[in-house]
Order: sequence, then C-alpha cells, then structure tokens
Amino acid sequence: MRGLNLKIIETKTALSKSRIPGIDYTINPYFGCEFGCSYCYADFMSKFSKNYKFFSENASWGEFVGVKINIAEKLKSEILKLESKTSFFQNRNKPSIWLSIVTDPYQPVEKKFKLTRKCLEILLEFQYPVGILTRSPLVLRDVDLLTQFDSIEVGFSITTDNDRIRKIFEPKAPSIISRVKALEKLKSSGVKTFAFIGPTLPMDAKNLAREIIGLVDYVLVDKMNYIWKTEKIYRINRLDFAIGEDYFKAVAEEIYSEFSSKGIEVQILF
Ligand code: SF4
Repeated sequence: MRGLNLKIIETKTALSKSRIPGIDYTINPYFGCEFGCSYCYADFMSKFSKNYKFFSENASWGEFVGVKINIAEKLKSEILKLESKTSFFQNRNKPSIWLSIVTDPYQPVEKKFKLTRKCLEILLEFQYPVGILTRSPLVLRDVDLLTQFDSIEVGFSITTDNDRIRKIFEPKAPSIISRVKALEKLKSSGVKTFAFIGPTLPMDAKNLAREIIGLVDYVLVDKMNYIWKTEKIYRINRLDFAIGEDYFKAVAEEIYSEFSSKGIEVQILF
C-alpha cells in the first residue's frame, strides 16, 4: 500500500444541493477518504469530480485526500446569502445540512485541519439543522458544539458486529467497538443519535442489536449496493453465503424485528 497523497485544494462552493429526501444540502470538507472502504460508492463518483485532476490518474481510493482549505469561508458567504433572502425561510424551516455524503467528515486529516469543526461553528452561529454521518470517534472532539444545536443528529455507520469482518472490508476505518463507545458518549451527552447499518456485511444481527439498543434513536438499514466492487473479497474470504438479496433481506428483517420490538424506529432503504 502506498502512502497518503494529500493536497491542499480550493473549493468554489461549500454547499451542494442534495437529492436525498429530507436532506437539503450536503458539505464535503474533503475530496476522497482515507478510510478507503472497499465497497464505497464515492470511489467511482470521485472520478467524475473536477478535483480528481489534482491526483494522478491511477490514484486508488483511500490513498488520496484533497483538503478543501477555504471551505469554511465559502460556507459563511453562502449561508449569509441564504439568510439575506428574507423570503427564503418564510413558511418553512431552515434547510437541513448534512456532513458528509462522499467523504468521512472525521477521517484522520480532520484532526489537523479541523474543517468539519469550522463548518459546524458557522452552522451553529445560524442554527441550521445538521446531520452528521461518520465512522470515527473523532466526532467526540466536537461535543461542545454538537450539544448547542437546536436540531442535530449524529449517526455512526456500523456495518457488522464482527471486527474481523470489518477488517476485511474496511481495514482502515475505526473498530466497531470504538464506534459503539462513541455512540454511547454522544447519547449520554444528550445528542440525538442513529446507526446506519449499511451496507449489511456478514453479521450476527441479534448481537449487533444487543450492542446498540439504548444508544440510538433510530436505525437505517441498507444492503450492499455495488456488489461488483466487493464480490472478489467475499469469495476469497469464503463469505459468499452473505452475498445476494436473500441474505440482505433476512438480515434487514432480523434488525427490524430486534429494534422495533424495543420501540426503536427502523427504516429499510431497499
Ligand atoms: S468512510 Fe464513508 S466515504 Fe470514507 S471510504 Fe468509507 S464509506 Fe467511503
């Protein structure tokens, strides 16, 4: 494996319009993601980005990160523009803004550059409803900000209960137990939390439910969508039993039954 190719880049915009229901805008403070999960859809989407030109053509997913160094300044001016349209918020709430969709906002470089934190400071100043999705306990660094939002939800992607499986599919991402512990701390700080159980890797769904029931307000479930990216990994690790609609549906049903029996809302996204 090669080292991380890190580049400081300038971005033209901070807010991207979202096509995801319930999310108005997204912010991606970084281009690329050091966690480099094998199944990540952002991998092939990155090839269509203008930012890809900053990296060599054969740069592998997980080995390059563009740091959008001016993103907080851009965000401030875009938010001020939104706020200046006095009619913009009439008869509706402020738009919801999520970090992040095609990168992890708390990947390791965030420790140094603090771009996610700077964006949160601006969003807090204007009290925009915020959602965060990450795999990293580094989000705990910003609890002081998170607890000041009127409306915020923070979710962890938890794809399996088994850290051996996690290491096969997402070896550079934080351990499952560290994510569960981070959820626990967020919950005890009074932050609304959720788990994004997706893609559903091979797992013991009952065990996963046991670990996170009580730590989340709701759960989202999704299947492995781009199976062609990971099929080889399944096969060489003799995990073929966990490929296919039947497996994904069975796991989703089990998750649904475990969580909903405890009164926790579950949305199955496929
Ligand atoms: S953490 Fe998220 S954005 Fe980063 S590689 Fe994994 S799935 Fe992709």
